[in-house]
Amino acid sequence: MAGKIIIVSAPSGCGKSTIINALLERGDIDMQFSISATSRKPRGEEKHGVHYYFLTEEEFRERISRDEFVEYEEVYAGRFYGTLKSEIDRITGDGHNVVLDIDVKGAMNVKRIYGDMALALFIMPPSIETLRSRLEGRATDAPEVIEERVRKASYEIGFAPRYDVTVVNDDLATAIADTHRVITDFLSK
Ligand code: 5GP
Repeated sequence: MAGKIIIVSAPSGCGKSTIINALLERGDIDMQFSISATSRKPRGEEKHGVHYYFLTEEEFRERISRDEFVEYEEVYAGRFYGTLKSEIDRITGDGHNVVLDIDVKGAMNVKRIYGDMALALFIMPPSIETLRSRLEGRATDAPEVIEERVRKASYEIGFAPRYDVTVVNDDLATAIADTHRVITDFLSK
């Protein structure tokens, strides 16, 4: 049987990658990470083929024209992100479940395509102010990028009611446990 799809979205800085990585490292849920393509530059320790497939904007547009994406979005001006059909097929074709870390619009598109085969999960910050201080603490982005992300967060939180389930990341360990439970419940149905 083909695997199921777990879509996880959150405003930047809400601990989404930390939560997904904790679950992947724990290893007791059969799910693999879908590596997205992006036209943005690598940050920090990010590696091509591990965190993202880093493409030039031209390469990204070529792949759009070859219809290689399940969905793609220009999440930030001039920065494209997309889920490759080949990633989903590679993982679900083998019967494994796949986890997608994608933005709100991409999430709604994937949910529309896959319906009950997909769980759309939104990770919420306790407040916008908490989110701002987390982003500042991360210190990988310039102040104007942080401002852009905070503005975007308010917009993204507006999509939360359209997700199947929401987890608030106030305390990280609790958020990991909640996310684990929600995904396990979904996969057992
Ligand atoms: P970041 O630049 O912080 O890695 O990611 C920025 C945003 O792009 C995040 O909200 C992330 O979930 C989203 N994103 C990453 N990959 C994809 C993708 O394949 N499709 C869409 N629609 N969004 C993505």
